[in-house]
Amino acid sequence: MTAPHTGGCRCGAVRFEASAEPHHISYCHCGDCRRASGAPVSAFVGFMADQVALNGKSLKSYRNGPVERSFCGICGSPIAYVDQRLDNKIYFMLGAMDMPAYFRPTLHAYVREQLPFLHMPDDLPRHLKTSVPRPNQQGPEGQGPNGTEP
Ligand SMILES: [Zn+2]
Ligand SMILES: [Zn+2]
Repeated sequence: MTAPHTGGCRCGAVRFEASAEPHHISYCHCGDCRRASGAPVSAFVGFMADQVALNGKSLKSYRNGPVERSFCGICGSPIAYVDQRLDNKIYFMLGAMDMPAYFRPTLHAYVREQLPFLHMPDDLPRHLKTSVPRPNQQGPEGQGPNGTEP
């Protein structure tokens, strides 16, 4: 399957389309994503923001510091994650994609916050914290500014 890749919310009021392939597909085990999604683990598909068309008047967002998470104001489905420190990048919830099975995650992030009863026996790389270094971040856990992305 090739681009465009489409997705949307549960009720259909929010729709989006990406004209290129994703640059990032990952699981995130952090507590912030857990609260935002309600699920024990989240998964994201990252695209370049200028290659994405996102529409839906019902789209709402919640900002916490540099991070803004968007969701459908009608049905509540989480849609995307944007971090101001990551220029031109947008991360859609994998479950919001129309063809979620196409987007196989390539890594786990924030495994130090992974729930103890959650077992995902794959051989993917596991990052203790973020897998995407922010510009002003001092490579914690051995992840320097040249760390891999995703
Ligand atoms: Zn909706
Ligand atoms: Zn997270």
